Amino acid sequence: QQIVMSGIRPTGFLHLGNYFGALRNYVRMQNEFTCYFMVADLHALTTLTETKELKSNVARVLAENIACGLDPDKAALYCQSHVYETNELYLLLNMLAYKGELEKTVTFKEKARLHPDNVNAGLLTYPVLQAADILLHRATLVPVGKDQEQHLEMSRNFGNRFNHRFGDVFPEPHAFNYGDELVKVPSLDGAGKMSKSENQFATIYLSDDDELIRKKVMKAKTDSGTPEPGTPMGENISNLFSLMKLVCAPDVIEQFMNTYNNGTIRYGDLKKQLAEDMVKFISPIREKAEAIRTDEKYLKEIMEKGAAKARKSAQATMLLVRDAMGLNYY
Ligand code: ATP
Repeated sequence: QQIVMSGIRPTGFLHLGNYFGALRNYVRMQNEFTCYFMVADLHALTTLTETKELKSNVARVLAENIACGLDPDKAALYCQSHVYETNELYLLLNMLAYKGELEKTVTFKEKARLHPDNVNAGLLTYPVLQAADILLHRATLVPVGKDQEQHLEMSRNFGNRFNHRFGDVFPEPHAFNYGDELVKVPSLDGAGKMSKSENQFATIYLSDDDELIRKKVMKAKTDSGTPEPGTPMGENISNLFSLMKLVCAPDVIEQFMNTYNNGTIRYGDLKKQLAEDMVKFISPIREKAEAIRTDEKYLKEIMEKGAAKARKSAQATMLLVRDAMGLNYY
């Protein structure tokens, strides 16, 4: 059976991008494959300069994963730092990763531009740690959003390089989405993607209350005036239609598309519809997550059970890795 691995950083509140890029796939995959899903706390440390909120953010990510339908009895749900084998594989893979290729990573360049005072070695080697997370379970399917495509290519490169140097241990991991293409949920201001730690006012979080969702959506930029039939759709409107595709019924989208095409569309009505459908989608998740988030005993139990499952798989892989590299002296 194919093995699935993915993770989310505890850097803040989960949002629609995390849901449609990652979580929605997790929930379906847990019924079809052997799955490992983690809260990527070590990855979070690459951009955090203090850790006061880490514990509550870890609880939040776990709770929101479960509220979205992840079942800890089906998939291993664990915290990255509890699986110590990750650190060993990370160190070994670092010997196979070249400074030049790491410096070329788009997310590294972007984070370094936004936070020039914290360009640390962990940030540079983020793709190596991510490769370690995935290769540790010899996973082949990695449900992620479009922003992770380049990292997955790097994981494949590191795995293949290891295989060439030391012998076949790792299968090739590939980014996965049940649809045709990897998903990118745009931010409401059209300036990038929805994100936990950037673009916060233009991101819809799974914890936003109904009024806040309405307020954010109504503020989204539209084009001025009604469209000239036959002219290409502007980026702002196209973003709104992309968001509608996530939460609105197909016939509703078709109606708005017809009014767009014949030049009678009212962007206020479109945003109202989008806001109400987002509210309907998010409010049950928010309520469920809120109840789980504060149940420390339950969360601890889940993390322990998840870590035990993940470590078993990790230890089996590390035996193969050490053997292949000749690190088995006795
Ligand atoms: P941060 O802002 O801290 O970098 P993030 O919101 O980008 O966080 P990650 O923890 O890096 O989220 O990613 C978790 C998962 O969510 C990944 O699979 C990533 O591809 C996916 N994801 C994040 N943002 C989006 C988005 N806007 N559209 C689709 N998928 C996304």
